[in-house]
Amino acid sequence: MLRQIFIKLSLVPQAQPVLARVPVASALVRRFIAGERIDEAMAVARALNGAGLNLSLDFLGESVSAMAEAVAAADTYLRLLDQIAELGVRAYVSIKLTQFGIDLDPQGCQRLVRQVARRAAATGSFLRVDMEGTAHTDRTIALVQEVHSEIAAIGTVLQAYLYRSEADLHTLASAGIRIRLCKGAYQEPPDRAFPAKADVDANFVRLSRLLLSYSNACGPADPAGRVPALAALATHDERMIAAARAHIERLRIPRDRFEFQMLYGVRRDLQERLVREGFAVRTYVPFGTHWYPYFMRRLAERPANVWFIAANLFRQ
Ligand SMILES: Cc1cc2nc3c(=O)[nH]c(=O)nc-3n(C[C@H](O)[C@H](O)[C@H](O)COP(=O)(O)OP(=O)(O)OC[C@H]3O[C@@H](n4cnc5c(N)ncnc54)[C@H](O)[C@@H]3O)c2cc1C
Repeated sequence: MLRQIFIKLSLVPQAQPVLARVPVASALVRRFIAGERIDEAMAVARALNGAGLNLSLDFLGESVSAMAEAVAAADTYLRLLDQIAELGVRAYVSIKLTQFGIDLDPQGCQRLVRQVARRAAATGSFLRVDMEGTAHTDRTIALVQEVHSEIAAIGTVLQAYLYRSEADLHTLASAGIRIRLCKGAYQEPPDRAFPAKADVDANFVRLSRLLLSYSNACGPADPAGRVPALAALATHDERMIAAARAHIERLRIPRDRFEFQMLYGVRRDLQERLVREGFAVRTYVPFGTHWYPYFMRRLAERPANVWFIAANLFRQ
């Protein structure tokens, strides 16, 4: 119920300035968002690299209302990729297609994605296309397949809460398209997504085993940590991680065939513990001024713990 309320609120961006004036809320925003500018994100990136974490940098923005905004976002990503290469940061970038104007001009959106994917390839990096709500699933997969047929440095995300994801996993993984598997962060109807969390969790375990098997057959990641292995398991759920580890050990899957991914500001202890145990871990680091929908989805994941997180923030 609370999850639904926060997800609905995430669709009302006019609330951002109101929320920004609430001190506890802006402290929480700072926990999840690395700053507003590229240089702030790069400072966080270097510190996290220093702690052994690889990164996925996300210039926040979604559902733009004019193609000029999409072009500006793509320009920021081009600069970001150049800086990643110049500074030798172990990072790739994540984008959202609604930030690149898919709802306004699909061809223009694809041109921009292709441009960023080319720069990612040229700089030895990688472009991850995040997965949004089901209104965009088909279009996201089609666009990634199209661009991937020409530029290999692009991959996408599948959501374990969707019934369709197993079929999508086979299609994408058998074409060598890199996949981040997550549970899913949007509000979806019961004819498309498992309504019960236990079923989402069970599907995550099943899909992570499938994905790991594809990745094992496909080969290792780039050791510099920019180009990932085929399989990325994005979760903070220790039960999901334990199930994946059991499967990895059972099949003796080498550690360069997969990585764990988590969000900036969530379970840093677990991220560092996995690094100490010798696993590749990538932290998803968002930055920029359009933090509102991203932030509200983070609250939706743990609304009951908003105050708990705030208390922790001051304890750390
Ligand atoms: C790297 C990364 C990329 C992602 N990309 C996408 C995407 O492209 N599309 C998409 O739909 N979703 C994406 N997500 C979000 C994902 O779908 C889930 O909504 C989110 O990760 C919470 O699920 P969980 O697997 O951590 O498990 P949950 O069962 O939700 O949480 C398990 C535990 O993790 C901790 N936790 C989880 N979330 C939070 C939080 N916000 N604050 C504090 N603690 C928390 C808590 O301890 C909780 O008990 C991404 C997640 C990650 C980590």
